[in-house]
Amino acid sequence: MVREVHGSCHCGAVKITVTRPPADVTECHCTICRRYAGLWAYYPVKDVSLTGPTEVYIWGRKYLEYHRCSNCGCVMAWLPRGEYPECGVNVRMLDFDINSVKLIVEEDASV
Ligand SMILES: [Zn+2]
Repeated sequence: MVREVHGSCHCGAVKITVTRPPADVTECHCTICRRYAGLWAYYPVKDVSLTGPTEVYIWGRKYLEYHRCSNCGCVMAWLPRGEYPECGVNVRMLDFDINSVKLIVEEDASV
């Protein structure tokens, strides 16, 4: 049974596919996520396909890179820059009912 979930940015230039539906979604209130207003689902990097032209934002300790469509600007995902095995997918870009899973709110706005 194919359980892949697909998505794209607003203009369609960047496509994203995950191997299974999110188990839950996380609303993070860190300094960057609250500005992006992303909702994240976490996956092993190998379970996520991100294709198309993206620009990358890297800051602070430089262990993550945030990928946004270079045309429409939608934030698609963050990927680790080192050996960290997981990445975050912005569920808002997926063809997926966000209300069908548990919402986890990370209140820590200090990072
Ligand atoms: Zn786009």
